[in-house]
Amino acid sequence: MADEIAAKHLEYQLSDTTPSSDKSIAEVRGWFQNCIDNHHGCPKPKSDVLPTRLIEIQSGNCLRLATRVQEGPYVALSYCRGGPQKLALVRKNVNNMAKGFKESDLPLTLQHGIALTRKLGLRYIWIDSLCIIQDDDGDKLRELPKMISNYQNAYITIGSGSPSCCDGFLGDRARCKLDKDDDIPRDMLQM
Ligand SMILES: [Zn+2]
Repeated sequence: MADEIAAKHLEYQLSDTTPSSDKSIAEVRGWFQNCIDNHHGCPKPKSDVLPTRLIEIQSGNCLRLATRVQEGPYVALSYCRGGPQKLALVRKNVNNMAKGFKESDLPLTLQHGIALTRKLGLRYIWIDSLCIIQDDDGDKLRELPKMISNYQNAYITIGSGSPSCCDGFLGDRARCKLDKDDDIPRDMLQM
């Protein structure tokens, strides 16, 4: 049944070839509002059920690892790492990342997730590699079982279809004139 529900929503297609344009963002917001208002079968995000850690999007190029955030909403990013990632949360950088780090230090797919979150007007994003301590087995044991809830309660889950964390997903699609199958926001949003 879940598959049928998902398949129905994949009918949505951006009318603009630039997924990050204002027109595209407005369309995405409209789809989401329609989902909230009219899809009685779709689970609604709960803004008071939050992941242990979130990335807080601050002004300029600044991000911060935030813990014990009391209120959402937040976006979740699902993506394929596809190889080594230049910045991830590890034991030795937890304190520094909580003080703040630069968006430009992240690989492109993660930067695009943050850019889209910002365009949607939201402040928090959950990204597993930045919110679960990658070299801490105890933390993984606690956090991995929460992943389902983390995706379930996100305002929107962005699913990047890019082969790696370095490819990004907001590139202009005009040059590869897409057929119907490829024009769907498959690699952009799953609602
Ligand atoms: Zn829906």
